[in-house]
Amino acid sequence: MRVVVLTGAGISAESGVPTFRDADGLWEGHRVEDVATPEAYEAQPSVVQAFYDARRAALATVEPNPAHVALARLEAALGDRLFLVTQNIDDLHERGGSRHVHHMHGELRSALCRGCDQHVPWTGDLGDFPPCPGCGVAELRPDVVWFGEVPYGMDQIQVALQRADVFVSIGTSGAVYPAAGFVQFAGRYGARTIELNLQPSEGTEYFDDARHGPAGVLVPAWVDEVLATLEPA
Ligand SMILES: [Zn+2]
Repeated sequence: MRVVVLTGAGISAESGVPTFRDADGLWEGHRVEDVATPEAYEAQPSVVQAFYDARRAALATVEPNPAHVALARLEAALGDRLFLVTQNIDDLHERGGSRHVHHMHGELRSALCRGCDQHVPWTGDLGDFPPCPGCGVAELRPDVVWFGEVPYGMDQIQVALQRADVFVSIGTSGAVYPAAGFVQFAGRYGARTIELNLQPSEGTEYFDDARHGPAGVLVPAWVDEVLATLEPA
C-alpha cells in the first residue's frame, strides 16, 4: 500500500505554532502578503528577515504533538511507501520522528543562498546578513517559498500522487493551491482520499472519507487503522 500524506497549518496550530492568518493576517503592522513575497524582500529585506527570524526562534517554544508522532510511526512501518509532504515550514515532523519530509513551501531551519543557489541548514538569525558558508557571499534569504514562487519538488509530488493507493490531507484549509488540488488529482489516479481536519475544508466534498476533529486525536486513530491492515512482519 502506497500512502501520500499532506499536512498543513492545522497540525502545527495544535502545537501552538501561530498560523499566517492569526491576528487578522498582520505581523507588527505589516500585512502578511507584504512580508512573504520576493518583491517584499527586494524592497525591505530587513523587515522580511526579521519576520522569519522571529518565526525560526519561536520553534524553540513549541513541541510536536501526537499527530506528528503518529506519522513517524506510520513511516517506521511503511518506509518509502509513505510520501509525507507538508506545507508547513516548521520542523515539527522531524522532531516528531519523521525522517523523510518533503517541505513543498521550504523550511525555516534552512537558508537559500542567492549567490550559489545552495540550501544551507540554518538555525540562527539571518537579519544581520551573514555570509554563506559555501561561497562567502552575504545573500542568504529565508529558504521558504513565497507568494508568486513555485513550490519545491512538484514533479516528485505528482508522481507520488499518481502512484498512491491512499491520499490523506491533514490540517489543511483546502484553499491554497497547488496543494488544494492534490485530492482531485490523486482521486483521478485511483487513490482513496481521506480528510482529517478540525472542520470541513473548502474541498471537503472531494474526499471519499472526511473526519472532523483535532489532528492529535484523528491522526493516531487513523494510523492505528492502517497499521492493523498491514501483514505482520
Ligand atoms: Zn552561497
